[in-house]
Amino acid sequence: MSAGVWAEVVGQPAVVAQLRAAAENPAAMTHSWLFTGPPGSGRSVAARAFAAALQCPDHGCGRCPSCRTIMAGTHPDVRQVVPEGLSIRVDEMRNLVQLAARRPATAPYQILVITDADRLTEGAANALLKAVEEPPERTVFLLCAPSDHQDDVPITIRSRCRVVALRTPTPDAIAEVLVNRDGIDRERAAWAAAVAGGHVGRARHLARDGLAPDTAEWAAAVSGGHVGRARHLARDPKARSHRETILGLPLRMRGLGDAFAFAGDLVRTAKEEASTLSEGRDLAEREELAVAMGAGGTGKGVAAAARGAKAAERELERRQRSRNTRTQRDAIDRALVDLAGFLRDALIAGSGARVPLSNPDVETDIRRAAGEWTPESVLRRLEAVLACRTALEENVKPEIAVEAMMTALHRG
Ligand SMILES: [Zn+2]
Repeated sequence: MSAGVWAEVVGQPAVVAQLRAAAENPAAMTHSWLFTGPPGSGRSVAARAFAAALQCPDHGCGRCPSCRTIMAGTHPDVRQVVPEGLSIRVDEMRNLVQLAARRPATAPYQILVITDADRLTEGAANALLKAVEEPPERTVFLLCAPSDHQDDVPITIRSRCRVVALRTPTPDAIAEVLVNRDGIDRERAAWAAAVAGGHVGRARHLARDGLAPDTAEWAAAVSGGHVGRARHLARDPKARSHRETILGLPLRMRGLGDAFAFAGDLVRTAKEEASTLSEGRDLAEREELAVAMGAGGTGKGVAAAARGAKAAERELERRQRSRNTRTQRDAIDRALVDLAGFLRDALIAGSGARVPLSNPDVETDIRRAAGEWTPESVLRRLEAVLACRTALEENVKPEIAVEAMMTALHRG
């Protein structure tokens, strides 16, 4: 058999081997799968290819009507959920779980692909959990999320899934696909793959028609391959000015006072961003909980029910806080990635290497930094940014980690 549908899964040989083996051995079938990986790594493409391999008599030939309709998203027994708002709500999920419990119309399985399982509300996750706990015989759930961390996917669901862990594909793997499948010439493919920072779709787009110097392309080039970030930058002037502030920061730092002030700004902005993102989902979850607990009531048992409701409320608040902390750290991390990109560019500019810059729009600043600082000093700054990322991963308080980094940036 040729590569078939697996050819769509770029730069993930281990994942393809795992899924192929599973699809070709239906006796050992698992009903619930969790595809994890950074955005752009191809989580939902891998899930769709796996769905095709399960439904196709040849385990994913890529040519039959079943494979073709699944990859196009129109197969009647493969349903894909793409949340429209910030979250997938409980009523929507109940409905989907019911549909997934039906016998498949034509294919061996009834498959439900949930592309952003990390956006389920608590209530929706519970509705899904019931189905995952006792899956109908011919139903398969394919969940996609950034990670299997409990803030993305509840432990109760995670523990019932087999995890398929995708990594960021290398620029070489991406370029290979662009050359062999899309017929793009090698030089252009290599350029697009390098600029797209591991995001296959973005690289393809850039290689095909992305040379016009408009906002969209600029956003793609500077967003480190993250398609959501590119969109955000292209649409939101506030996000653009925030990025500009961050990139300008190393050169604007004139004293230790600046270092502390900039650290405060960075953490505060991240907090604001996180609360804007959390608002919609937090509110939906509180409403769900209130409905589940029922309002009012009289007679025996009311006091006990009220205590139960209080406990559930506290538990929900705790989880929302933990998720909010994580969102906040992600926002700081984006700023750190921008900073690291700027310093990397300064190193490249200083070395005279003919490598494209990550932030071509601030080339003047990059050249100035490369002229003012020795390569060793640029490297020390870069190390401080990377150390800050590590510290945040290890749960150091953001204020402390960011202040330490800014102080190091000031010292040079
Ligand atoms: Zn097929």
